[in-house]
Amino acid sequence: QPRVFSGVQPTGNLHLGNYLGAIVNFVALQDSHDCIYCVVDMHAITVWQDPAELSRQIREVTAAFVAAGIDPVKHIVFNQSQVSAHAELAWVFNCVARIGWMNRMTQFKDKAGKDKENASLGLLAYPSLMAADILAYKATHVPVGEDQKQHLELTRDIAQKFNNDYAGSIAGHGYGDAFFPLTEPLITGPATRIMSLRDGTKKMSKSDPSDYSRINLTDDSDQIAQKIRKAKTDADALPGETEGLKGRPEADNLVGIYAALAGLSKQAVLDQFGGQQFSAFKPALAELAVQKLGPIGADMRRLMADPGHIDQILANGAIRADAIARPILDGVKDVVGFIRRN
Ligand code: ATP
Ligand code: MG
Repeated sequence: QPRVFSGVQPTGNLHLGNYLGAIVNFVALQDSHDCIYCVVDMHAITVWQDPAELSRQIREVTAAFVAAGIDPVKHIVFNQSQVSAHAELAWVFNCVARIGWMNRMTQFKDKAGKDKENASLGLLAYPSLMAADILAYKATHVPVGEDQKQHLELTRDIAQKFNNDYAGSIAGHGYGDAFFPLTEPLITGPATRIMSLRDGTKKMSKSDPSDYSRINLTDDSDQIAQKIRKAKTDADALPGETEGLKGRPEADNLVGIYAALAGLSKQAVLDQFGGQQFSAFKPALAELAVQKLGPIGADMRRLMADPGHIDQILANGAIRADAIARPILDGVKDVVGFIRRN
């Protein structure tokens, strides 16, 4: 079976974008793939995190995975820092990747802001660690939202350069003509890019300072309804055809969210709501969101009440992840020419 790897950062409240752009796919892939889902806590500290809050968020993302329907017994759920192969392989990749590649990443530019010199070195090297996350398992497919497409292309570049730089040694150690596979992105969820509720040109994000920009998986029905009521829109009625959503990013986003949650096309949503005002559409959207997210939030709260159980899930996943990654990392060490302990 093909192997899937993906990660979510424990950097704040999980939101509708994470759910529709990533987690829904994680759940769907379980029948056809061997899946490894990682809470990427080492990525999280590329931007400073309050330690107690970080621990809480690691457990909360784990709870969200399980509440959304990921099976941590059939598949693997763990947090990155428990499996040292990620950090070890990332170092090798730091020496394969070029600084210029990292400088071109839009996520780095967005998150570093104006004062690039003052960003952490880890934030710049983020894609190198992400390549290590994926390639430590020789994963062939990575389900992510569209914002991660550029990082996945870089993962392929790093794999390719490693395969080239060490071609002789790779063949010499019996690995044929490529050590790492060229991983394919799976950018296919019901909505690969959900936008902020406050600004239809910015993606919905955990690190957006405004809580009104996103719907969190743990929001209660009043919060969901209020955020949708306050969501930015224009003054026009909804169009009857999807063509009419062009140049109306906020309207397009809300219709897209409705479509994704209902499992409909945007046109089917407009067949139902075209010609109506947002004052009529927003309550229908709020009701749908509460209906879909309510049970997940409730399940997360139930799981969060027993942190010991969550930690057990993570420890169990880490042992199984380590068993896959360790021999692959040993292979890397041999190929690079390191001497390892036997
Ligand atoms: P941060 O702001 O800390 O980077 P984030 O909201 O971008 O947080 P991540 O943990 O970086 O969340 O990403 C987890 C997964 O969710 C990734 O696969 C990413 O592509 C996906 N994702 C994030 N935001 C969106 C969005 N607005 N729409 C669709 N998918 C998204
Ligand atoms: Mg992100």
